Amino acid sequence: MPKTTDQIVFGFGRIAALLRAGQWQAGSGADLNPAQAEILTRIARRPMRPGELAAHMAVSPASLSDSVSSLVGKGLAERQPDAEDGRARLVVATEDGKTLAATLPAAPAGFQAALDALPEPDRARLLRTLIHLIRELQLARAIPVQRMCGTCRHFRPHTHDDAARPHHCAFVNAAFGDADLRLDCDDHDEVPEEEAAAIWRRLTAA
Ligand code: SF4
Repeated sequence: MPKTTDQIVFGFGRIAALLRAGQWQAGSGADLNPAQAEILTRIARRPMRPGELAAHMAVSPASLSDSVSSLVGKGLAERQPDAEDGRARLVVATEDGKTLAATLPAAPAGFQAALDALPEPDRARLLRTLIHLIRELQLARAIPVQRMCGTCRHFRPHTHDDAARPHHCAFVNAAFGDADLRLDCDDHDEVPEEEAAAIWRRLTAA
């Protein structure tokens, strides 16, 4: 019998291929490659410094700069001074860039439909397992730091008696459940690793 991990790796490989094909397809109509589409989607949510963008996307500064220059050349992005640091620059989406970003699907329609077809508890379990896996990869420095609840100053895991919504986000002052755990949150405020480890212990103990 093949090992369980082999089957999981195979499954992730199939899904990664589907997502990558979807990215090429979605971007091709707008003349964007997947990297340009991802940058545009991120800066449409909020302006970012090039170093932060490169870290989130796990690409070199040179490669990031090429992609940003392409977006600037297409009138979809601009480099602007950062008001918080006179020496720094921000990559900002133009109005055309924001309009285009709003039309780019997060995932191929078929994949979205397959996720929607899962029972809600299964979807929540899948998200929690993915978060756990990403945390392990992050600790192993195999992927960049993710702006997820498990490493956020505002996250209070398992503080409410409500089994459906046991967690609390102090940023929005609201209770929420596993299905709403975030993997990429714009309001994320990273804590030092010792605090993240304590948060993680509380999250996984239950
Ligand atoms: S601010 Fe975002 S990442 Fe932090 S706890 Fe709230 S939802 Fe999670």
